[in-house]
Amino acid sequence: MTSEALSGRNIASAAAPGSRRGVPAIELAGVAKSFGSGAEEVKALGPLDLAIEAGSFVAVIGPSGCGKSTLLRLIAGLDTPTAGTLRRGGAALDGPSREVGIVFQDHVLFPWASVLDNVMLPADVLSLPKQAALERARWLLKLTGLEDFAGHRPHMLSGGMKQRAAFCRALLADPQILLLDEPFAALDALTREELSLELSRLWQDLGRTALLITHAIDEAVLLGDRLIVMSGRPGRIRLDLPIDLPRPRDVNTEKQPRFLEIKQTARALLFDREKD
Ligand code: ADP
Ligand code: MG
Repeated sequence: MTSEALSGRNIASAAAPGSRRGVPAIELAGVAKSFGSGAEEVKALGPLDLAIEAGSFVAVIGPSGCGKSTLLRLIAGLDTPTAGTLRRGGAALDGPSREVGIVFQDHVLFPWASVLDNVMLPADVLSLPKQAALERARWLLKLTGLEDFAGHRPHMLSGGMKQRAAFCRALLADPQILLLDEPFAALDALTREELSLELSRLWQDLGRTALLITHAIDEAVLLGDRLIVMSGRPGRIRLDLPIDLPRPRDVNTEKQPRFLEIKQTARALLFDREKD
């Protein structure tokens, strides 16, 4: 992905609720989620309070099974909490929204459709203006270095390229909020680092709110400007720390003493499960 200027490639996204000054893009109050009932009940998450400022990049890290994906699904409006309230841009959450783009660990591209058609998928679902969507899709593919693969089927792409296509699709409707659930987990270490730095640049260019779920400490500290460390299940917030590292971030960021310090703090908490 290159950081070229973002000129006029916005699909009209009027009165974006996440961008109102002073209003958190995402706000959770006393949110908890359980699955099942009675003896079968699994307390998956919370209760937790969390306010995410518009335009910030929040990285959430926590042990496996602590409710990270559950948290993301709740914020996406794909699931409802057992207790508490969620707001996006100051308004009570009302199911999925075009203002939210999601990228999962698995790229979930349709194998029979071209890369361009895969990226264009939300255009139909969300009834976006066709021509503007097509223009934006092509622009996103260019931005992520996939322009020559627009007509290819997904199986002809590497893992990293498939995940880039998934990012393009999530960004098609120009969402205010980008939710990322371990988007690099299935990639090799080198591609993972390369792609996370590209994401960091893309996020800076787009100026949207991002929430990244990961279990990789390096990735969380490299990308976020705020780090949240969760406890074991039911996941609650154990640490909420600003990541005061300069941007743009690059491979040298990982060598900075402050990077190592934050990483060490998070690691110590993650391995100290006694207090959960
Ligand atoms: P993480 O993403 O942190 O690994 P999840 O949010 O996927 O964790 O899951 C948290 C807990 O909730 C786990 O114990 C999991 O088994 C349970 N869980 C998640 N989704 C469901 C579901 N749809 N039905 C029942 N249990 C679920
Ligand atoms: Mg998960």
